[in-house]
Amino acid sequence: QPARELLAVADLVAGYGADPVLHGVNLQVRSGEMVALLGANGAGKSTLMRCLAGLHASQSGSMHLDGHVLERRPAEEVVGLGLVLVPEGRQVFPELSVLDNIRLGGFLHPEDREARVQQMLDRYPRLRERQHQRAGLLSGGEQQMLAVARGLMAKPRVLLLDEPSLGLAPKIIAELFASLDALRTEAITILLVDQMAGLALALADRAYVLENGSVVAEGTAAQIAADESLAEAYLGGK
Ligand code: ATP
Repeated sequence: QPARELLAVADLVAGYGADPVLHGVNLQVRSGEMVALLGANGAGKSTLMRCLAGLHASQSGSMHLDGHVLERRPAEEVVGLGLVLVPEGRQVFPELSVLDNIRLGGFLHPEDREARVQQMLDRYPRLRERQHQRAGLLSGGEQQMLAVARGLMAKPRVLLLDEPSLGLAPKIIAELFASLDALRTEAITILLVDQMAGLALALADRAYVLENGSVVAEGTAAQIAADESLAEAYLGGK
């Protein structure tokens, strides 16, 4: 049975003020895929994710999740449909405990919330060890795992991950990416933005490259990784 398109973005235009940042973006993610969204700083990756999550209003074009229109839908409803953003910079609540941060992610699902909190603590043993500590005391890697766990509490069908590796040590990044890879066996579809392009492409099935708000390339992760002419677009000439 061919995987169907779960997330579809068509001709999306969005920005801040008069100047669009996204100039008509087209992107599809099929059920069960992990798709990498690459692009230099400022290419518009976060803007696209924030539009999808209902946190930023698009100007034109369309976004659908399993046939449901996403544009002009409040963020909470988008979460309810199963599209969940793990935002850039983790955005954990530093004064709340690890446990309470995880619980917050399950606000739409009170019926099995506590059981699912325990599943998250099983998944991330370091969070279990620190469950009663304030989240602000965690290391960067632990905070990222907390942000992912909080996102998973919302029962995502599609998880949007914005720069999860940012500021983390290589060993922690490897651990984090391994945990993302494991999510794929749980029928969670992933759209991953990350500056660690090589690692993201090693994990992803397909990839899109965004440059100045437009998709300049798409293909299998292997195709994108092999195309040296693209490296500048997604590495910013580094
Ligand atoms: P980064 O990796 O730096 O987050 P990105 O590809 O995610 O890059 P965006 O964060 O989407 O890019 O930013 C795209 C453009 O929009 C940039 O030029 C940025 O300066 C601008 N921008 C982002 N957020 C705002 C905002 N709140 N107000 C005005 N301009 C913004």
